Amino acid sequence: MSDPVREGVLFVVSAPSGAGKTSLCRELIDRYPELRQSVSFTTRQPRSGEVEGKDYHFVEEDVFRQMVAENKLAEWAEVHGNCYGTSLNTLQTAAEQGVDLLLDIDFQGAAQLKQNYQHGVFVFILPPDFAELERRLRGRDTDSDEVIEKRLKNARREISEAGWYDYLVVNDDFQTALDQLSAIVQAERCRSQRNQQTLAKLTGE
Ligand code: GDP
Ligand code: ADP
Ligand code: 5GP
Repeated sequence: MSDPVREGVLFVVSAPSGAGKTSLCRELIDRYPELRQSVSFTTRQPRSGEVEGKDYHFVEEDVFRQMVAENKLAEWAEVHGNCYGTSLNTLQTAAEQGVDLLLDIDFQGAAQLKQNYQHGVFVFILPPDFAELERRLRGRDTDSDEVIEKRLKNARREISEAGWYDYLVVNDDFQTALDQLSAIVQAERCRSQRNQQTLAKLTGE
């Protein structure tokens, strides 16, 4: 169970496409089931096996635009030609309930959140090198050569701008990267600033 005496922690994880973010976030949630995955809104079509409300909230473009106009999104960005956004409501509810939230969002969205959520924890996943990133993108077998070229080009730009993140995790050996992510989750939960109420409770203040 999450600790009700502290606010929920916002964990924001980004990576260039193919670095292993989806696989790592899935395993992290398995390890920490009380860590709740934020479900984004997107205009992209569901892939086979994806479930509405679990993987994404799949919406039409006009619905998405309406949400932007009504300031219902804490951040949003166009990624690979589709729109993706995080609902403000999801972030507010989690903070109030003391629930730790995991956001798998692109670097443009993470940069937006950094402005308003200074207490958030921003993690960037890196591939060991570009040859391996290309191997993973091809091995996943979900994208055409043209799409892969575009993602590799974007990856170089994203990596060159990732220096502001709080943590960089290199996903070379998967288990090592998962252990490092777990260590970040554990350490951030124990941060003194987040646990002042625990002190107050013990000292009777
Ligand atoms: P994949 O991760 O490349 O396999 O593809 P996805 O379709 O799952 O994700 C596309 C991109 O959208 C990724 O870079 C995600 O991190 C990003 N993304 C997902 N949800 C959000 C969100 O709520 N906000 C923002 N800004 N980006 C998101
Ligand atoms: P992303 O969500 O960042 O686009 P995925 O989680 O889909 O990336 O991973 C891309 C591909 O690389 C997948 O086929 C995945 O199984 C594989 N992969 C992820 N991490 C590793 C790793 N440490 N070593 C080898 N392959 C990996
Ligand atoms: P996919 O379409 O493969 O599910 O996601 C592609 C990219 O969109 C991933 O890098 C993912 O992290 C990002 N993404 C997913 N949801 C959001 C979101 O709500 N906001 C932003 N900014 N990016 C998102």
